[in-house]
Amino acid sequence: MGLGASAPPGSTSVSMPKDKSKPGSLLIKGGHLIDPAANIDAPMDVLLRDGRVAEIALPNKIRGSADEKFDARGLIVAPGFIDLHVHLREPGQGYKETIVTGTEAAAAGGFTSVCTMPNTTPVVDTPEWVAWQRQAERGGVVNVFPVAAATRASRGAVLTDFAALRRAGAVGVTDDGKPILDDEIMRAALLLGADVNLAVVQHAEDTRITENCSMHEGPTSFRLGLRAMSSIAEASIVDRDVRLAQRIPGSRLHVAHLSTADALKAVRRGKRGNAKASVTCEVTPHHFTLLDQDVGEYNTNCKMNPPLRSAADREAILVALADGTVDAIATDHAPHATHEKEVEFDRAAFGVTGLETALALAITKLHREQKIRLTRIVELFTAGPARVFNLPGKGRLKEGFDADIVLVDLKRKTRIRPESFLSRAKYSPFENMHVQGLVHTTLVGGTVVFQDGEIVGKHGSGRIVKRGLRG
Ligand SMILES: [Zn+2]
Repeated sequence: MGLGASAPPGSTSVSMPKDKSKPGSLLIKGGHLIDPAANIDAPMDVLLRDGRVAEIALPNKIRGSADEKFDARGLIVAPGFIDLHVHLREPGQGYKETIVTGTEAAAAGGFTSVCTMPNTTPVVDTPEWVAWQRQAERGGVVNVFPVAAATRASRGAVLTDFAALRRAGAVGVTDDGKPILDDEIMRAALLLGADVNLAVVQHAEDTRITENCSMHEGPTSFRLGLRAMSSIAEASIVDRDVRLAQRIPGSRLHVAHLSTADALKAVRRGKRGNAKASVTCEVTPHHFTLLDQDVGEYNTNCKMNPPLRSAADREAILVALADGTVDAIATDHAPHATHEKEVEFDRAAFGVTGLETALALAITKLHREQKIRLTRIVELFTAGPARVFNLPGKGRLKEGFDADIVLVDLKRKTRIRPESFLSRAKYSPFENMHVQGLVHTTLVGGTVVFQDGEIVGKHGSGRIVKRGLRG
């Protein structure tokens, strides 16, 4: 039941228990609410109680009372962002990132939920490891939703136990980092996914033709003399997957970090086709911002997989972001240690940081330059991703939904400074870029976890940082 509905009607002074394990109640007042799922783009006040949304009303019309008030004048209030594709690197690779540092970076970027990829050491292919990633002892400051391996050790040969993984808390399955290449295994994964209602997330790359390649095939790879991958390597896998999915009623295919115009065409076919299968896709901020030529003189910060593509590919992505074909912006935050990036280009690790720059890039590149509406951008960070993985209580601000909220200062201009990242990985292809839009405050379950540039609390700690009413 929605908490607002359980409050006595017309009550003005609800006495809150002073139990420190409870977040209590907080009134966010004077902000501009954007909640695409509810079609709201207007000044609204929001009352949070016991970790959930209790009431949403026009300015000064909230009926319930609150322990604390938060002055949100001049700020956008939106559902907390959801990132469908991050690498938190635990278990096993804590020298690159940990669940603590990765979720702190997420909070700084306005993300209240992150879906973590299973290509860790060991690979997350059992219910035990899924449960381990979700344990409170891991110290995550935002919600962590594991995406488990689709095949044992992600070797692409034997499917994992999807039902057991789902019961342990997995929200999807993938062999990310690698594709599921074999037609029969992919078909079986989509069938089993349909059975247990899990999305199969494909890292679309025909690795039979991309071996030892380190960037996109084009004039830049030719000039630099680097082995390069053609866009066909991505599009052919997406095309095959869409055809497989469409023959399996109830199947859910999700294309990770889509980067090419041709792969988009296949996704469009999948979305237009019969409604028996769900075909969704995500794109990354680096693919809508940068081009293969930004690799410049072997800049390893621009080395990621899929690689930065051509201007035509980026143009197609921008169109698809605006027209609704793309379901979510996902960062593919893939941190590495400095010694893994500061080496020769063809030996450097693939991967970019993304959690702390995604929103500013979306506002700067998509909203200000491309004139994509803010409501659509917020949808790509909230309701869109929540739909892809069926995350209940997430992605919108409705009575009874989780009090996961981000407050954004749209006007604040900044320069991207990787040395100030909360992520362990202090590098970025966007270093020194001037951007607009800053995450002011992030709340998870009604608790302020990030504010004014620093981590201030932990989800469930009951700590609410008060920002006194101004004036
Ligand atoms: Zn991938």
